[in-house]
Amino acid sequence: MSDILSLLPGYNCGSCGFRQCRDFAAQLKSPEDLRRCPFLERDIFRDNLGKLSALVGADISPEEKITGIIDGLEADFMLAPLRDECSCREFIHPFNGAIEINTGDLLRYRPLGCPITHFAKVIDIDPGIYTIHLVGPLHRLGREDLKFKDIGLCMILAFEGRVSRGKLPKVGQTVKFVPEYCMMQKVHSGMVVSVEGRDIRIEGIDLKVW
Ligand code: SF4
Repeated sequence: MSDILSLLPGYNCGSCGFRQCRDFAAQLKSPEDLRRCPFLERDIFRDNLGKLSALVGADISPEEKITGIIDGLEADFMLAPLRDECSCREFIHPFNGAIEINTGDLLRYRPLGCPITHFAKVIDIDPGIYTIHLVGPLHRLGREDLKFKDIGLCMILAFEGRVSRGKLPKVGQTVKFVPEYCMMQKVHSGMVVSVEGRDIRIEGIDLKVW
């Protein structure tokens, strides 16, 4: 308890729903509970967040070895969906620019360099770049009623998600990671361009890792 208290911000501000950090500390049961303190997501408390996660049932251990299943390569971390989202966010660019795509559309495509056909829902659009949530292949089993637009081959530009296991990266670091829902559990690579607590954005995605 005293170890946990020494790592909390100590503002006794009540933002977590408890009047004092001490009361908050007393009810912590899992690392997910730590999200109720908004200050722990800030850079100055980032190291504390890792230590607190370890104290309350760590799901982040910098020493943990993450290995891709299909390639047997070592990765730096596992990437999970952002809070309350169904999959990591992916930012894709279809090579076939002739197909009209709208927010809410369901897409079928194959990422460049990946043998697996993917299924996704469009959640946002920038010119030439579509932000999607993955909804398959696994998620769509038993949902043959859903209609998907075939958009063919796509370049995967970026991922946004939460580091769930392994080492927390820094901005500017080239990383190897495994998206939790990747059917092949294949190691991906990319460049980290933003870090907010455990939420990160990785750009320049590549499947060529060795
Ligand atoms: S939100 Fe954080 S700093 Fe504020 S009382 Fe809760 S634990 Fe303490």
